[in-house]
Order: sequence, then structure tokens, then C-alpha cells
Amino acid sequence: MKKKSSGGIVVLLIAIIIIAALAYLYNSKIFERVAPNIALNQKIEWNLKQPIAVKISDASGIKFVRAVLSDGKNSIVLAKQLFTSPKEEFTLNIEFPRTGFVSNKKRFELTVESVDASKWNFLSGNKAIKKSLILVDTRRPELFTINNSYKIIKGGAAVVIFKAKDENLKDLYIETSFGKKFQPTPFYKDDYYISLLAWPSFEKSFKATIIAKDRAGNVSRSRVRFYLKNKKYRVSNIRLKDNFLSGKIVDLAEENSQQSATMGKIERFKYVNETLREKNENIIESVTSSVPTKMMSSFKLKPFYPLKNAAAVASFGDHRFYSYDGKQVSQAYHLGIDLASVAKASIVSSNKGTVVLAKYNGIYGKNIIISHGLGLYTLYGHTSSDLVDEGENIKAGDVIAKTGMTGLALGDHLHFGILVQGIEVRPEEWMDKNWMKDNIFDVIKAAKKIIDRK
Ligand SMILES: [Zn+2]
Repeated sequence: MKKKSSGGIVVLLIAIIIIAALAYLYNSKIFERVAPNIALNQKIEWNLKQPIAVKISDASGIKFVRAVLSDGKNSIVLAKQLFTSPKEEFTLNIEFPRTGFVSNKKRFELTVESVDASKWNFLSGNKAIKKSLILVDTRRPELFTINNSYKIIKGGAAVVIFKAKDENLKDLYIETSFGKKFQPTPFYKDDYYISLLAWPSFEKSFKATIIAKDRAGNVSRSRVRFYLKNKKYRVSNIRLKDNFLSGKIVDLAEENSQQSATMGKIERFKYVNETLREKNENIIESVTSSVPTKMMSSFKLKPFYPLKNAAAVASFGDHRFYSYDGKQVSQAYHLGIDLASVAKASIVSSNKGTVVLAKYNGIYGKNIIISHGLGLYTLYGHTSSDLVDEGENIKAGDVIAKTGMTGLALGDHLHFGILVQGIEVRPEEWMDKNWMKDNIFDVIKAAKKIIDRK
């Protein structure tokens, strides 16, 4: 009786050990039951040049991979590999066969198989199979310029109209020599595009190239040729005065930084002129960078004339160096024009648009920005009223604000700026009827005629 019961315990113990061992193995990597993961899209456009990279991964390691390409009639093994030491991750680079496979088909089926190193399935492992439709596209996008402004002035703007066509078009933009990528807007008819371009006043040179890429990786480039007209901007040296450093600068620093009280007067000036300015200009850049994506068939504006009977008190592009006690302490570019008439004068938007910014913005004070389409924006700084709200549509001729001296302004005036896709350009151009006609509207008109003939 005693013996029997101890024998039963032994059997039970052995059973528990076996179950535990099986459970351990069942849950261990050695017997994992998940097939390899093959990262392969269902449809791939292929230019036959760059290899198709297929990422394969598995917890127990990859033992075997194979890729087969078939045109429906014939097939060829493009890759086959057996691993003696299994890898958890592997990238299979599939290349089109240079020899041994003749097919002029444009559609293929790619089959990728992989087996893992698991001992599951009676030691044979888990197998995964994934198929993809391969569409061969070796043609580069069709790309050429229809028309563009004859010249661009340093600090100014220009326009380009071009054709870009590809059944798999993926990316389309205009690359510049200074890192900015301009985004085009569909224009007038299918496959045609338009973009305003800008040459920042502080960039030495200007070069623009249209880039069109398709999903298969084919790329076309087309340089846009302009006559480049250099322009010298004023360099001014401003001696900082104590009453300025202890007046407006203190107000702006206190409003915008909690450390203001601990700053020395030059440190405080640098904070306002550099740190705060950068923050304010980033806000301006972010609201003026967006470009319409819906097709547009016309772009026509009246010259901007924001302030009646105004005198220009500061010009666009000035490079201002600030000194104190004979030492240069800071610098900045003045990227708008300053107009002054009487205090609290009415500011008018000469063209219709949408208000994209109407708020206090540091050194710009109460700052209004209006979008006029095609990535062109007007900016009004130091205003003193609350006449428009963000999101509001305004008509040509509407009074949008009153002049003032909010922000970094010493007297009542309007800081007027024009931006093209986030870049400040010479407002003079967009205030000049003849410049606008010759450099923008006539170029667009001629482009439409060319498109109509095609
Ligand atoms: Zn100004």
C-alpha cells in the first residue's frame, strides 16, 4: 500500500516534468510556430535598375529564401539561398536577370518564399510565401519647361510653367541651389504645373532645377534658365542707444522671456534681435509655406498699395549691424519695407485673400498675413487694431488694420512684406504694375497659348 502510493508519486512527478519540458519547448524559440515575415508590397513599379529590397525577419532565424519571377509563361529563379547559420533579419536584394531570361513583358509575378530555422512541423520549420505584381516602368517622366520669367533679381521673384507627365508620378518639386524646394501647383490643363520662385536677398546665387520622380525610381531633371540680375542691398551700422535698450527692448524681453530680469542690456537686446526674431520668423515661415494643390487656371493680381500717401522710411533687404560702445554686438536683415503716413492710418489689402495669421507675434507686434494664392502672401507688422480674424476671407480694397507701433517699432508705421512659399521677396516688385505684367502675368498668358496649341 505504501509502495504503491510512492510509485504513483514518481509517475506523477515524471509526468509533470515531461509536461513542463514540452511546455518549455513549445514556447521556446526552437519550436516557434510563426512563419517568417516577408515585407513585400502587393504591387511594385520597377525600373529594373535598382534592386528590389525585400526585408525578411523571423524570431528563430531564417534558414532558406527563394525568389522566382514569372511572366505567366516562363519563370526564372532570381535568388536562392540556404543559411548554415540562420539570421533573424535578412534583406534580399532582387535584381533583374541580365542573361538567361528573355521577356519583353511589362507585368510579372514575383514570388518570395522563406523557411525559418524552427524545429516545428517535424523539424522542417515554418514556411511563408508572398507574391507581388511587378510592373516594369523604365521610362523617365516627361518633363520640360513651357515658359518662365526672363529674369530674376536677387531678392526678387519669378514664375515658371512646365509640363510633367508620368503614369506613376510620385514627386515633383523645384530644387534650388540654397536648399529650398518649391512646390508646384497643377495649372490650366492636366500634366501642366506652375510655381512662383524666389531668390532670397542674402543668397549669393540662384539656380533652379525641376525634379520629377516616378514610383519606379526613374528621375527627370530640367534646369530653369533665368537671366540673373544681381542687386546690392544696403548695409547699415546702427549704434545702440541706452534709451532704446532700456525702453522697447525691455518691454519685448519681459513679454516674451521669463529670464528677462536676469539679462544684461546687450544680452537682452541680442535675445530680442536674434532669439525672439528667429521664433517670430519661424511662425511667419510656417504659415506662408503652403501652396495650393488644386488646379488653378488663372493668377492675376493688382499691384499692392497698402497705405495711401505713405513715405518709405526703410527699405527691403537692409543688412543691419548693431554696435554698442564701439563693438559690433548683433545683426539682422530687414526683409520688408517700412511705410509711414499718419498715426493709425488705414491699411488696405489691394487683392482678395484669406487671413492666415492675425495675432501678436513678438517683434512684428500685431501681425497680419494674407494668402493671395499660388504661395504668395502679404505681411503687415506693428498694426494696432483688431479688424480681421484668422480664416477670414477678405475682398480687394478691404481695410484690414490700422497702423501702429506694436512690437519692435519706434514710431507709428507699417512693416509691409511679401512672401513666396515662405521666402521674403522685394515688395517693390509686387507694387509695380509693369513689373508684374512683364515678369509674371504675360509669362502665364504666353504659357497658356503654348499649352492650347499642343
Ligand atoms: Zn520694418
